Amino acid sequence: MSQKDAQSQTPLVVGKVEPVKGVEPSKQQQGNLYTIVQGQLDKAAKAMNLSKEVALVLSQPKNELIINFPVKMDDGSYRLFKGYRVQHNNILGPYKGGIRYHEDVTLDELKGLSAAMTWKSALHDIPFGGGKGGIKFNPRLHSKAELERITRRYTHALGNNIGPEFDIPAPDVGTTAQMVVWIMDTYMNVVVFSDKNAMRRVVTGKTINSGGSYGREAATGTGVVHCILEWAKDRRFNLNGCSYTVQGFGNVGSHTSKILSRMGATLVATGDYKGYIANPEGLNPYKLAEHVQATGSVEGYKHSKPITRDESFAMECDVFVPAALELEIGEKEAKALRCKVVAEGANGPTYPDAEQILIDRGIDVLPDILVNSGGVMVSYFEWLQNKRSERWDLEEVENRLESGMKRTYGIVRDFREERKLDYRTAAYSIALDRIEKAYAERGIWP
Ligand code: NAD
Repeated sequence: MSQKDAQSQTPLVVGKVEPVKGVEPSKQQQGNLYTIVQGQLDKAAKAMNLSKEVALVLSQPKNELIINFPVKMDDGSYRLFKGYRVQHNNILGPYKGGIRYHEDVTLDELKGLSAAMTWKSALHDIPFGGGKGGIKFNPRLHSKAELERITRRYTHALGNNIGPEFDIPAPDVGTTAQMVVWIMDTYMNVVVFSDKNAMRRVVTGKTINSGGSYGREAATGTGVVHCILEWAKDRRFNLNGCSYTVQGFGNVGSHTSKILSRMGATLVATGDYKGYIANPEGLNPYKLAEHVQATGSVEGYKHSKPITRDESFAMECDVFVPAALELEIGEKEAKALRCKVVAEGANGPTYPDAEQILIDRGIDVLPDILVNSGGVMVSYFEWLQNKRSERWDLEEVENRLESGMKRTYGIVRDFREERKLDYRTAAYSIALDRIEKAYAERGIWP
């Protein structure tokens, strides 16, 4: 690699931008998740003087796979599904990242999410790279039998494009531990019989019975709370007695809520794809999770009143946790929020302009690649346990997760203070530095 030359760097964003369905035109102008993640990369590249060669390599994923595969529906008809797997970078280890089932999945969204996985693994010094996959469909409209056939056909179509030392999927929005177990089972049944059990670690986020790790299901929410706790210590802020709002009450949102409530914090509002609810006296996250389990949404929870999405963003609280989809906090939401900190449980929830508004208003923004990385950390622990044929107890997993999250948070905090950066640019810079060092030693070959 040649000398660093930040001055000559051109913007890294290339290619056509796919419009995002249902997004206001003012937000569209800021681009989609991929262009936004690339913009964040540009910003950090300038801040830490990243070499233009490494910046170029990182500006596009290594591989973008699109597959169309037929599935037989319960009524006997055939339907064609479009699946994706994007492999962003593997200089530090196998590609790693979730599989999303959602009707709005696009290639650019997955490119952005896969890049974020590369930064996330590098930031935490986890020996994985970044990837992301998905299928463009609404899983809520399908029976369990159809979901199984869709998942198995998708896995079969991916073939050897995934693998335990090559590319390791996990659950994401719309996918569950059961679904990654189907991926594992399909994958392991098409490889050589004697190696079958060595293939378990082709996916992480599995159920305990099928080789998953204790603590994985709640890991992302647990990590979110560790970051909020570290932030609170820095700001001399007491979480006991404070209030919080969570957008999205799925895996990340519900576990974050349960843990925060155990610390004496009060959930005042939440919402999901169907609607938003509030109770200034506090919502019980455990009972709410039971309601969601039974009905599929927070809507209609009896100890709450319905509110609008705008009202939920404007609700006064101390901590706001976006834990739904990306690009939910635009200019309007940033001006409306009345909190002290935004802890990004979701990937890419905040538009860059909105982040600046929040920072200018004195609201800290703790970035996704730091805050929601408990999932990939415990995924790594799961992968290691599978590889060594070990089973770690919950306490061991939780202790390792806590020390990993605290260590990385401390590194980001110190770097940020030293360089006078925002949290996101600091986190990206640390990740990019690790990746750049690996490229500097290895170069590109042939
Ligand atoms: P999930 O499917 O379990 O939950 C998603 C939640 O968001 C649900 O409550 C859903 O109703 C809600 N939602 C969907 N569309 C919405 C909309 N338009 N408006 C409001 N709410 C909406 O998914 P999850 O695993 O909890 O993931 C949530 C976020 O966290 C995603 O950005 C994901 O990429 C990120 N993340 C997840 C993990 C993990 O381990 N699951 C790890 C890191 C990051």
